[in-house]
Amino acid sequence: MIIPKAPKLTPEQLAEVRKIAAEFDCEIGVVVGANRNIYAILGDERRELLLNRLEGLLYIDRIDTVDAPFKLMDRRGALSRNVIQIGGVQLGKSPLIIAGHCTIDPKEPGLFYETAAAVKEAGAHVLRGGVWKPRAMPFTCQGVDGALNILVEARARTGLPINLEVMDSHQLDLALKAKADMIQIGTRNALNYTLLKEIGAKTAHTSTLILLKRGRHMAPVNEFLACAEYLAANGNPNILLCPRGTLPTLDTYRNHPDESITPLLKEKSWAPVIVDPSHSVGHIEYVPACALAAMAYGADGLCIETHIHPQKGIGDDPRQAIRPSTLRSLIQEVEQIHKFQNRFKA
Ligand code: PEP
Ligand code: MN
Repeated sequence: MIIPKAPKLTPEQLAEVRKIAAEFDCEIGVVVGANRNIYAILGDERRELLLNRLEGLLYIDRIDTVDAPFKLMDRRGALSRNVIQIGGVQLGKSPLIIAGHCTIDPKEPGLFYETAAAVKEAGAHVLRGGVWKPRAMPFTCQGVDGALNILVEARARTGLPINLEVMDSHQLDLALKAKADMIQIGTRNALNYTLLKEIGAKTAHTSTLILLKRGRHMAPVNEFLACAEYLAANGNPNILLCPRGTLPTLDTYRNHPDESITPLLKEKSWAPVIVDPSHSVGHIEYVPACALAAMAYGADGLCIETHIHPQKGIGDDPRQAIRPSTLRSLIQEVEQIHKFQNRFKA
């Protein structure tokens, strides 16, 4: 819908607008109001160049689009019946719990195996473990390829599918060679369109799921969904959307918790929402409350950093990983909220 600055377009302006629209196979319908006219774009209004060309006209105030800019992730789109499953859970039917270390310590594989067994026992469905880590400082441990073997061994021991973050082609190829069940795209790479395209294409037509974290700098929800659209457009629609907090605006919390965008994401997209309460709040004592809040907002599951001995962990574990015993009771509460939500919906 085109809204001009003046109450109506002059005949010359309307002719110019019609000419541009025609280049994109669209027509213009004039909606005559008592005080001002508005102009409907009839046809596919999602092309960015069409909107840019029209918005560039000095006599146009703004354009309001009715269609979502993303076609594949749109709740009303063709993929709306996409069923995603992992670890014996069908997303949406019961809550999915991803748990494990922030970072696998390559020098202490035993710790990871202990955690893996404990999170399974606590009720988790997917085992997470950071092999390569995006660090704010280049001097801190960046991870080593060898830690991937520890993750793969933990999968063999527990039978749990595995999730790990990749940041480049080398890591992606190794993760796929190891048959990673879920690839994580971290908050720092959430807007790395080259990587998004590559991951979408290399996991196309496979059972590999993608956990797409929300960029910490990301404000508009549409921008988040557009990143998911990159993955789907390149061949893999098996995407889990993961709010994990945005740039910190609160003292003490590591990020600004954003689990409250869950209903908004669900209104716009069919994709399941898996909230990461660990990075959102960044402190052990606040994680359970954030996790429960996420479920109350309608999340389909959680990704929670969990460690058998948080103080022995590397990466984020000492400050934000919960213990498996906490995970166990949290999962019970999460399941209750999920059941209540479903009853509420029915
Ligand atoms: C992580 O999951 O350990 C991580 C680094 O996540 P994020 O990209 O959300 O910071
Ligand atoms: Mn972490």
